[in-house]
Amino acid sequence: MAKLLSYNATLLARIDLESGLSVFRVRPDQPVCHAGTETPGFIPGQYVTLGLNRSQDEIDAGATPVSVTRPMSIASSPAQPQDVEFFIRYVEQPASSLPLTHLLWALPVGDRLFLRTSATGHFNLVDTIGTDDPRAKLFVCAGTGLAPFVSIVREVVDNNPQANLSLFAITHGTRTSSALGYREELENLRARNGLGYLPTISRPHQDPDWSGRGGRVENLFSPEAIEQTERDLRIDIRPDKTVVYICGLTGTIAECIRHLLPRGFVPQHRRIRKALEIPEDQETTLYYEQYDSEPVINVNDPAVIEALKASMPRSA
Ligand SMILES: Cc1cc2nc3c(=O)[nH]c(=O)nc-3n(C[C@H](O)[C@H](O)[C@H](O)COP(=O)(O)OP(=O)(O)OC[C@H]3O[C@@H](n4cnc5c(N)ncnc54)[C@H](O)[C@@H]3O)c2cc1C
Repeated sequence: MAKLLSYNATLLARIDLESGLSVFRVRPDQPVCHAGTETPGFIPGQYVTLGLNRSQDEIDAGATPVSVTRPMSIASSPAQPQDVEFFIRYVEQPASSLPLTHLLWALPVGDRLFLRTSATGHFNLVDTIGTDDPRAKLFVCAGTGLAPFVSIVREVVDNNPQANLSLFAITHGTRTSSALGYREELENLRARNGLGYLPTISRPHQDPDWSGRGGRVENLFSPEAIEQTERDLRIDIRPDKTVVYICGLTGTIAECIRHLLPRGFVPQHRRIRKALEIPEDQETTLYYEQYDSEPVINVNDPAVIEALKASMPRSA
């Protein structure tokens, strides 16, 4: 049962991109540390837990639960472990009775909140292919799934402002261009450091000035679109040349897997691999971090699994 949380952090700033989509800057009293240690820092791609208590009036009236915590990817660079940045969507139709995002949006700047300062998660380069792997890293995200990838590229340029980012490619999908968080920063990294950056919006009719790609981000990898995407990003989207990281909600992840299996990409998730009869020793070339809890692929549906297996190259 949820307990009252002891607040240990301050909301420094909230930058609204549009209604219900904001960047939050939080200063914990103690810096974020590597999980299980007291060493300040984190691996870009990791997340921490944010939490808030219900209002005292509601608690006094007997409402439960009294608090809520949720994982949130860190969007800032470990070079600034003191102030931590998050890219958060207000969830209009929450699944719980005390949604964190609703409390967060009611929190005035300067007020206190809870931040578990132990950074967690394996969705990062160190814990997957390693930072020295010579292949391109293709980051695919929808909405706030961009956060871990911003942290990853920020760390590279924080360590070396002249770094060549041509082996990093970010594809970001949103409904309209106003939700393309970090766009200016990523466009600057594209111009100065060679970052591959390909935003796409699914409602271009609501965005008359938009001249970029249209459609959902997963459609950049459909059979009709993938070659243009390779040209735009200047990478070869094949597992010997590129490793794929996807972050966001189920639909994006599932569709990307469906489009990338025929190219020989191998997902990490054990149950999916087993259902697809991928040998245990076959290298993972597609990783994902899921923000919701729907099954990405219904491994118990023979029709789904057979269709996916039929799409895979024989050697995969
Ligand atoms: C490892 C990890 C990292 C995460 N990082 C982020 C992050 O950086 N930014 C962020 O906004 N969320 C992130 N989330 C999701 C976050 O933890 C919460 O689930 C989300 O904020 C909703 O919480 P809630 O209490 O307001 O709503 P709940 O009552 O818990 O409602 C849950 C429902 O909200 C929907 N949902 C969850 N996340 C999103 C989202 N990002 N956009 C739209 N709908 C969503 C899902 O359909 C889910 O069923 C992350 C989740 C995980 C597991």
